[in-house]
Amino acid sequence: MRPSLIVHGGAWDIPDEAVAACRDGMRRALEAGWAILSRGGAALDAVEAAIVVLEDAPVFDAGTGSHLNLDGRVECDAIVMDGATLRAGAVAAVQRIRNPIRLARKVMENSPHMMLVGEGAERYAKDQGMAWCDPEELVTAAERAAWERCREEMHAAEHHRGHEQGTVGAVAVDREGRLAAGTSTGGTCCKLPGRVGDSPLIGCGCYADATAGGVSCTGHGEAIMKIVMAKTAADNLRRLADSDEKPAELAMLAAREAVRVLAERGRGTGGLILLDPGGNPGYAFNTPRMAYGLVDAQGAFLTGV
Ligand code: ASP
Repeated sequence: MRPSLIVHGGAWDIPDEAVAACRDGMRRALEAGWAILSRGGAALDAVEAAIVVLEDAPVFDAGTGSHLNLDGRVECDAIVMDGATLRAGAVAAVQRIRNPIRLARKVMENSPHMMLVGEGAERYAKDQGMAWCDPEELVTAAERAAWERCREEMHAAEHHRGHEQGTVGAVAVDREGRLAAGTSTGGTCCKLPGRVGDSPLIGCGCYADATAGGVSCTGHGEAIMKIVMAKTAADNLRRLADSDEKPAELAMLAAREAVRVLAERGRGTGGLILLDPGGNPGYAFNTPRMAYGLVDAQGAFLTGV
């Protein structure tokens, strides 16, 4: 079958001056993932490759450029999920891992568990031959400056203008019809140390089931968790698959419906991307903007912010 790929770089009030960098990140993530899918590679590899690009791009809140917690430290969360087996690998509150999505994949493939946190996750990285980075290498000057302002003047929403949120994610279907999804984040700015949001939680920030679809979410984690948004969206896909809607519209409908529940029941803001098992893309958000990118049916890269 024709492979498919969709990525996001967070749903938030993206300021005009960050739009070009977000679009560039989306395009480069699509290039990395599509290079794998178009030569017959695996959906999991494409998801990992796309997310690594976004973790390395300082404009997004994942890996390098993550928001700082109240102590001024980066603490990252990530998850990857395989739609065929329903196995997931997740890590949370890691401080020394440059690409948390790579560690999440190792948890999924090489450990008997689905989630490792903090020091245990970092020790597992070493066991798996992954190098630790200096935590300071993940801190950008912009994030440090924003954190300083929050500390001096009290944490306030306006200090976060231009650096609110930018979690990243990807969903892919490969030529064999295998489906995978992943999400990676630095979480929310000035979060309490040890806080874990929706992103690395199976069914909340990410879900993949080859019989329903794959989803990656972004937004206010405490609200997304309330409505288990990724699983809610996957359930929408499954339910709508039996309706008379055209597949292309159905994917968009499933995404919109999940975001409506986020607003109404979760009382929160955010967005998501998804693919149905046939690779039809959907996305929705109720924030002013969301960075997203997808490969259309003709193989062209479309990005939006
Ligand atoms: N959902 C993430 C969290 O709450 C943040 C985001 O997506 O921007 O940690």
